[in-house]
Amino acid sequence: MSVKDRLAVVQQQINQAAIQSGRTPEDIKLIAVSKTKSVEQIREALAAKQIAFGENRIQEALGKIEALSSNQQVEWHFIGHLQKNKVKFCPENFQWIHTVESIELTGKLEARFALAKKKINVLIQVNLSREESKSGLQEWEGILRVAETISSGHWLKFRGLMTIPAPDLGEIKTRKIYEQMRKWRDKLQYELNAPEITELSMGMTADFNWAIQEGATMIRIGTAIFGARN
Ligand SMILES: *Cc1c(COP(=O)(O)O)cnc(C)c1O
Repeated sequence: MSVKDRLAVVQQQINQAAIQSGRTPEDIKLIAVSKTKSVEQIREALAAKQIAFGENRIQEALGKIEALSSNQQVEWHFIGHLQKNKVKFCPENFQWIHTVESIELTGKLEARFALAKKKINVLIQVNLSREESKSGLQEWEGILRVAETISSGHWLKFRGLMTIPAPDLGEIKTRKIYEQMRKWRDKLQYELNAPEITELSMGMTADFNWAIQEGATMIRIGTAIFGARN
């Protein structure tokens, strides 16, 4: 199947999951995760009106962003672990960062975006599977502290939460995690009195149906759009 056909299938599945759970399909942003995939494959997706793309390595992303820089609409989301020495590349290249997970990283980002006089949308990465190998904050207190730090600055726009559950948890445990994410997003919106904290970045190829039912507003799909990665 072509990228265009795969995108149409995914969009159909999104529509169905949304309608089944009483939601509006337009409220769910599809991020095409293009890591390891070529500029040519991204162009195919762009030609099919896909505009948001996710990358998880800065070096790999920079080449693609440069190659596609003449396209005014394309929107780049950084979804990988952000090393502090790579923060300097963010202002010119990304519109969203999904993986803020410490006060220190927040400080570095705020300083860099101030220098560039640019604003950016950021999400806090949460790790509710308690996997030591995975990034992300595990406790409410830590999340609140980082959220307050982001919100106290000027250049980072705090928009919500992101998570990657362990892949083998099954439906009940995975949905519990997504449900907790939604509760914490709502609590942040209330406690920080910030109606713009609306986003829940959760759901990948294997489980986006569950994520949509639990309230995901951004789903990150690679395999179902571009095929398996090597
Ligand atoms: C690779 C990746 C995805 C996409 O995974 P698929 O299973 O291919 O849909 C989503 N989110 C993150 C953070 C990723 O690294």
